[in-house]
Amino acid sequence: MDEKDANITEETKAENGQSGNGGGRGDDNDAYEKICYSCRRTESKAGPMINLPGGMCLCHDCMQKAFDTVLQNGFDFSKIQNMPFMNMNLSDISKLNIPQPEIPQKQRIKKKTPKEQPAFDIRDIPAPHRIKASLDQYVIGQEQAKKVISVAVYNHYKRVFAEQSRQAEENASAAADDVIIEKSNILMIGPTGSGKTYLVKTLARLLDVPLAIADATSLTEAGYIGDDIESVISKLLAAADNDVERAEHGIVFIDEIDKIAKKKDMNSRDVSGESVQQELLKLLEGSMVEVPVGTNQKNALSPMATVNTDQILFICGGAFPDLERIVKERLNKTSSIGYRAELRDRYDDDPDILSHATNADLRAFGMIPEFLGRLPILVTLRKLTEPMLVKILKEPKNAILKQYIKLLALDEVKLVFEDDALEWIAAEAIKRETGARALRAIMEEFMLDIMFEVPKDPNIGTVVITRSYLEKSGGPRIEMRG
Ligand code: ADP
Repeated sequence: MDEKDANITEETKAENGQSGNGGGRGDDNDAYEKICYSCRRTESKAGPMINLPGGMCLCHDCMQKAFDTVLQNGFDFSKIQNMPFMNMNLSDISKLNIPQPEIPQKQRIKKKTPKEQPAFDIRDIPAPHRIKASLDQYVIGQEQAKKVISVAVYNHYKRVFAEQSRQAEENASAAADDVIIEKSNILMIGPTGSGKTYLVKTLARLLDVPLAIADATSLTEAGYIGDDIESVISKLLAAADNDVERAEHGIVFIDEIDKIAKKKDMNSRDVSGESVQQELLKLLEGSMVEVPVGTNQKNALSPMATVNTDQILFICGGAFPDLERIVKERLNKTSSIGYRAELRDRYDDDPDILSHATNADLRAFGMIPEFLGRLPILVTLRKLTEPMLVKILKEPKNAILKQYIKLLALDEVKLVFEDDALEWIAAEAIKRETGARALRAIMEEFMLDIMFEVPKDPNIGTVVITRSYLEKSGGPRIEMRG
C-alpha cells in the first residue's frame, strides 16, 4: 500500500470513528485496517466493512453479491469468490483440508516521520549576517567569499519572492511595480580543495533547497557524445524529488567551469568549450527547459516536465589555473608604466592575487563575454594556509579530528593530538597541493595503525598523537587506565 492510500485510510477511520482492528484477525492496533475476506480490498478502497463472526469482515459489495447469489441460486455460497466453504459449519471446515486462501499481510500504515526543521526557511530568508554566521560554523576562513555569497543568496531569494508577489499583483490586475530585480548568478574562483563545493553544499543544506552539482567537463553541445546541458536541470529535479516547484528554487553548482574555456588554435568545432558556454547562456538567464522525469536520458517513454530556470541560483566554480599569470602580467604591466611606476615584481608573491581578477582577465583566459555577463558576482577563495588547515582539522562542527575522537570514545579511549602534530599534518597537506582534501588522506594513513592496535588492549585509556609518531621517529604516547 502506498503512502497516499495510507493517508486515505487514516482519514476514513477518523471519519468513521473506527478503531481499525486488523481484518480477519481482530487485534487492537491502530496501525492496521480491515480487509474484505472475499475480494481482499482494504477498507480504504472498498469502504466500511461489515464484521462477521470469527473476526472476518466483508465489504458492502461482496455482501451484496452474497445476497444476490442466494436469491438466484438458493443458498449456494460456494459460488462466491474465496468462499466455497461458506455453507458449511465452521467446525467441518477444519476437517476438510481445504487450502486456505492466503490472507494478505495486514496493511501497515506508513507513519510520516516528522521532517527535520531546516535552519532557515527560504520564504523568511535571514539577513546576510545570519547566513554568514551559520556558514562560519562549517567553513573556515574565506571570510570575503562567505560575505559575498551570503549577500548574493539573500538578494537572490528576496528577488524570487518579490517576483512572485509582482506576478500575483499582475494577475490580480493591480498596478504592478515596474522594477524587476535582475538575476545574479555567481562565479566562484579558487584553487582546488579550498572549499568551493563545500561552501555551496553547506549553503544548500542550511537553506534546505535542492542542490545539483554538475561537472562542466562532462557537458557537450547537444547532439555530441556527453551530457546535454539540460541534464543539469534533470539532476536538480531529481534532487528535489521530482517536485518542479522546489527545483525552481534550487541551486545548481557547475564545477570545473574553467575547463569549458574557449580552446585556442582550434580548427574544428569546439563542442566541449565555447559551444557549452553558448548553450549555458539560456539556462543562466532563465528559460523554460523540458527535462525527463526520473532519468537524465530523453526518450519516448520517459515523462517530461517543464522547469523554469529563472529562479534557480547558478553558481559556477573553477580553479582557473592560468588566471594567476594573466592577472599578474596585467598588474605588473600597468604598475610599471608612468612616473608612479612600482616594482615590476610587486605582485609576484601576492597569495591573494586572484582577488584582483577582472572580467578582462577572464576573457583572456577564454570565457566569452556573454557568459561572464550572466555571472555578475565574482567570488574568489584563497589558497588555504597552514594555520587555516589546522583550524579545519579541529574547529568545524563536523571536523575530522572530532570524528576520530568520537570513534575512539566509543571504545572508551581518549584521543589527544598535540599541537605540533596538527601543524605537521597541515604542512604535509600543503605539500600535496590538493588543499584541505589532503587532510583526510593523511589522517587515514597514520590513524589506521591506531585504530587497529588500540582495541586489542582494554587497559589503554589515552592515546596521544605526537609529532615524532607522524615523522616516524617514535610512537604515540599511550596512557593506561587508572
Ligand atoms: P573544491 O574547492 O575543490 O571544490 P571542496 O569544497 O571539495 O574543494 O573541499 C574538499 C573538502 O575539504 C571539503 O569536503 C571540506 O571537508 C574540506 N574543506 C575545504 N575547504 C574548507 C574550509 N574552508 N573549511 C572547512 N573545510 C574545508
